[in-house]
Amino acid sequence: MAVIAWIGLGHMGGPMSAHLVEAGHEVRGFDLDRAALEAAEAAGVRVRESIADAVAGAGAVFTSLPRNEHVRQVYDATGGVWATAEPGALLLDTSTVDVETSRWCHEQSAARGFRFVDSPISGGIPGAIAGSLTFMLGGSADAVDAARPLVEPMAGHVFDLGGPTLGIAAKLANNLMLFVSLLGVAEGAQLAASLGLDAKRFFEVASVSSGESWPLRTWYPAPGVVPTSPANRGYEATFTTALAEKDLSFALAAAEASGLRTPAAAIALEQFRRLIDEGYGGKDASLVAKFPSPEGRVAGFDPES
Ligand code: NAD
Repeated sequence: MAVIAWIGLGHMGGPMSAHLVEAGHEVRGFDLDRAALEAAEAAGVRVRESIADAVAGAGAVFTSLPRNEHVRQVYDATGGVWATAEPGALLLDTSTVDVETSRWCHEQSAARGFRFVDSPISGGIPGAIAGSLTFMLGGSADAVDAARPLVEPMAGHVFDLGGPTLGIAAKLANNLMLFVSLLGVAEGAQLAASLGLDAKRFFEVASVSSGESWPLRTWYPAPGVVPTSPANRGYEATFTTALAEKDLSFALAAAEASGLRTPAAAIALEQFRRLIDEGYGGKDASLVAKFPSPEGRVAGFDPES
């Protein structure tokens, strides 16, 4: 069994690291947040007071951090991962970052004698808790081979996408598809309702017809239709608008850098930014379902509450 360091024990990193403990690994964790550390400790993670303490003696270092700047800081700071990890350690970043940050992590890790694998995940907090995440791995063949058995206790599916940054490329392209589909579901659901269709009955039709999709199945924007829908709980977040805005802005930046035109994704991004401007960055991204209505209304959402 391995000694593994885990930096960033939040909504995803907390339950993910707990699966490594369950698999028999010794996991040494660090987070800036005391409550996150306490929850991890209760799950069997050995809590440490600094990155340097967590990575000392660890053969692998996982990171699960909010944004590009946190990843860059945790790797590059004095007392950060590169300065303090064991020579030759395997570094795995499960955060969603942009392609440039991922490339920088690969290049700078290699320059310092570390193996780096971009290891983004899909499946959300429920997938992290269940240990059923999809891992998208990018890196050299030997690094990805070494990463696979480490991520398996947290995973339902593990994909080796090839070379450096191809894991994050898959993650960003997948999320672009998700959020464009979400707008289709939002507009179709509102059209069905305004034409007089019962939401549940229409869902039954669309879910076995060509309108079927992951957001339809998981986030149908009407209360009482699918149990996992945020519409059942006042659009309390399962996937925050702030995270959706981050992921989609990275996807659009990658598209632009590739010379692609992605107008549908640009509209989705604009709608997430509108929600954030209205103060709903912490609500579920599926709240875009209110925009087809001129009054900004959707069943299950009370702007006053
Ligand atoms: P989170 O904010 O709950 O957790 C991040 C943790 O990192 C926090 O506990 C924070 O205190 C810690 N942190 C920040 N800076 C740090 C530092 N310098 N040193 C140590 N710890 C530090 O976020 P999350 O929802 O767990 O997401 C983590 C990553 O996973 C993000 O990149 C996100 O985009 C990605 N992701 C999230 C989901 C999801 O549904 N939440 C799904 C897929 C991917």
